[in-house]
Amino acid sequence: MKITAVNVYPLSAPIREPFRFSQARVGTRVALLVEIETDEGIVGWGEGYGPPRLLASVVENYAELLVGADPLAGDAIWEALYNRLRDHGQKGVVIQGLSAVDIALWDIRGKAFGVPVHRLMGGPLRTEVQAYATGLYLKDWDDPAIGLADEAAGYVEEGFKAMKLKVGFGIDHDVQMTDAVRGAIGDHAALMIDANHGYDAVSAIALGRRIEHHRIGWFEEPVPPEDLRGYREVKAALSIPVAGGECEFTRFGFRDILAERMFDVVQPDTCAAGGLTECKKIADMAAAFGVRYVPHVWGTGIAIATALQLLAVVPRNPPGLYPNEPMMEFDQSEHPFRFEVTPRISHRDGIVQVPTGPGLGIEVDRDAVMHYRMG
Ligand code: CA
Repeated sequence: MKITAVNVYPLSAPIREPFRFSQARVGTRVALLVEIETDEGIVGWGEGYGPPRLLASVVENYAELLVGADPLAGDAIWEALYNRLRDHGQKGVVIQGLSAVDIALWDIRGKAFGVPVHRLMGGPLRTEVQAYATGLYLKDWDDPAIGLADEAAGYVEEGFKAMKLKVGFGIDHDVQMTDAVRGAIGDHAALMIDANHGYDAVSAIALGRRIEHHRIGWFEEPVPPEDLRGYREVKAALSIPVAGGECEFTRFGFRDILAERMFDVVQPDTCAAGGLTECKKIADMAAAFGVRYVPHVWGTGIAIATALQLLAVVPRNPPGLYPNEPMMEFDQSEHPFRFEVTPRISHRDGIVQVPTGPGLGIEVDRDAVMHYRMG
C-alpha cells in the first residue's frame, strides 16, 4: 500500500454563548483535520490540536515525505517526519501537525487489517472508560456562582461522577466558585480545578490552601508550562495532586518531568504531543515512573475517538485487581461541529465505550467537513 494524497482541512465555527478561561475568551471553535488517501482506496483521518492554519502548513510541509510511503510503516514515518523539522520545532505546532498525520496513519492501518487501532496497539486493557466533564467555564452570567452551580448540578444529574472547574480568575473569585460548585454537587462527585497556567507558584499555593478541604481531585496547570520548578513548589506545598502536560510534547519533553516526578498526573494531548505512536510511549514511560496518565482532549469526535483508542491501552497504574484506571476528558462546552464531522460519542452514567470499528472506529462525514472548512 502507498500513500497517494494528504489533504488538510482547517475548520472553524462561531459559538452562540462565548466563554472564558484564564487565558482567553472563546467565541469560535476550530480544528485541523487531516485526510490521507492510499492507492488501495483506504482513507485515514486525523486531527491536530492547535492553530489550524499553522498546523495545515506543517502538514503540507510533510506531504512530500508521505506521498509514496507505505502507511503501515508507522515508526519509520514518525521518525522521518520528526527529523524533517526537528531543527526548527521539537515542540508546539510542528509536533501538533505531526500528531494529526500519525493519527490518520493509524486509522489507515486499523482499516487495512479490519480491526480497531487499540487491537494493533496491544489492547484492549479496557473496553470502557470513566469520563469526567470538562466545562464550568466562566460565562456572562449575572451571578457566576449560581451559573456554575447550576451547570455542575446538571452534570451530576446527567450521570457524571467527576468534573473540572476553571480557575485562574483571581484567588477570591476562585474560592467562591469552588465553594459554590462543591456545594452544588455534594461530596460524592469528584471535582478537579484547572488554572490554564494563570498563576505563579505563590498564588497557586495560596489558592490551593484555601480550597484543599474540598477534596480537589487535581490542580491542573497551576503555573506556566515552562516553570517546572514552580510545579515542584506547588506539589510540595499542597495535598492536592498536581496535573499538567497539555503544553508538553513527545517522549523527550516528558522525560525529565517524569524522571523528576514534577507532576502527579500527566496530560499529553494525543492530537498534539506526537500522535498515538508517541503518546503510547509516553504512557508507558509514565507507568514506569509511577505517574498517572489522563490525556487532554479538546477537539471533534475524531480527537475523542483517538483518545479512546489510546485509553484502551494505557497501562494500569499500578497493576492489580483494583487499579487506578485512567479517565477520559469529555469536553461539554459548546462546539458546533464536534459531532457533526463524526457520529455522536455518548456517555452513560459517565462511562464511554471504546469504539470497536476498524481504525479509529468512527466514520467521518466529508460534507460536514466541507461545510465548516475555513474560507
Ligand atoms: Ca486544561
